[in-house]
Amino acid sequence: MRILVIGSGGREHALAWKFRQNPAHTVFVAPGNGGSAACAHNVDIAAHAVTELVDFARREKMDLVVPGPELALTLGVADAMTRAGIPCFGPDAYCARLEGSKSFAKEIMAEAGVPTAACAAFTDLAAAKDYVLRHGAPLVIKADGLASGKGVVVAAKLEEALAALDEMMVKRIHGAAADTVLIEEHLTGEELSFLCLCDGTDALPLPSAQDHKAVFDGDAGPNTGGMGAYSPAPLLPDNQLERMADLVVRPVVRAMAGRGHPFVGVLYAGLMMTADGPKVLEYNVRFGDPECQPLLLRLESDLADLMLACIGGRISREKLACARATALGVVLCSRGYPGAYAKGMEISGLDAAGEDDGAVVFHSGTVCKEGRILASGGRVLCVTALGDGLAAAQRSAYAALEKIRMPDGFYRRDIGAKGITFLQGTM
Ligand code: AMP
Repeated sequence: MRILVIGSGGREHALAWKFRQNPAHTVFVAPGNGGSAACAHNVDIAAHAVTELVDFARREKMDLVVPGPELALTLGVADAMTRAGIPCFGPDAYCARLEGSKSFAKEIMAEAGVPTAACAAFTDLAAAKDYVLRHGAPLVIKADGLASGKGVVVAAKLEEALAALDEMMVKRIHGAAADTVLIEEHLTGEELSFLCLCDGTDALPLPSAQDHKAVFDGDAGPNTGGMGAYSPAPLLPDNQLERMADLVVRPVVRAMAGRGHPFVGVLYAGLMMTADGPKVLEYNVRFGDPECQPLLLRLESDLADLMLACIGGRISREKLACARATALGVVLCSRGYPGAYAKGMEISGLDAAGEDDGAVVFHSGTVCKEGRILASGGRVLCVTALGDGLAAAQRSAYAALEKIRMPDGFYRRDIGAKGITFLQGTM
């Protein structure tokens, strides 16, 4: 099969690596990174250049196109590929609004009966401030649209909530993404990532995963794109996946089909496991990064076949084959991330790390220049390893990561620690 992956992060390297586990597949990545260059053909087309991507896919006779990032999907890359007769594993622009507009997602959740935090939407500053004053802190303030993962403020105090409204609605730090602002009930609990492969009418759950959003150990510091992840998450064992799909994914798939837009692709529910049961914090319409890396390291089924089954409306006939082992990934970042960070540092020790049993180094922000791998992003790579249980996977991933050298690099040292504590408490 000839497969085009769209994007340039760790998720896209992991997708390309996974497809290449079947030597019969030829894989292209647009635009790709230093890691995907080693296992696939990088193509110099930006991830949002929809027309050029369609032209390339048509000219090069792709059997399957897999968009990684949400922006391409909200711009309608799946609609354009489908119009051109090219099989594309990703939702149309209408369905992508589940991620692109938090108020749209809330509307669908209400229609589908999915548990989520109580919330109100505002376009008027005075009305929003009045709501905050009447409800009191803690509250969560959210920009409606895409804001590069920075559009959510968890306000512990009233002043923080009011300041967030000023920043979004007066200073317009997120531009039009905060034309509408949501004010949400504050939930407490553990967070969990739950992803399903959807075919328009049904959904096949992937094993659970847990991400680590905060930049520093102990969940301190600002939120990032993700500092590490593991799968499965002890909070959601395999025998509860079907029930979770019935609660938070299948009702949404039915609602979208009812609106004439069958959802094909990955539907990812970001969950808070509260004392009142699971509640959806947000939907993403694609694989998460870095959850994708440990998930794909465990997946034994041919991913391209599963995706074509989704496109053909046949996912309910498929079963997932997954390694029983736990997979854990730790992200190496450039100093300064998630703020301004340095670039161009040379990374060494990659071969030695990759030789560790069961470890794979997935690149995120790297470029290959004259045979050298240089850092080009805030999140640089994700060292992912398998182990017999969470503690063993953690040991393997950190052992491999310690073989890698990068000036001005840093990483969290406690990826998986909370899960290990949870497991100890249940033994
Ligand atoms: P979101 O983009 O909506 O997933 O929000 C980003 C992060 O903000 C989540 O991963 C949570 O850590 C936090 N968050 C979002 N909504 C809530 C909520 N209602 N209560 C508590 N924390 C939240």
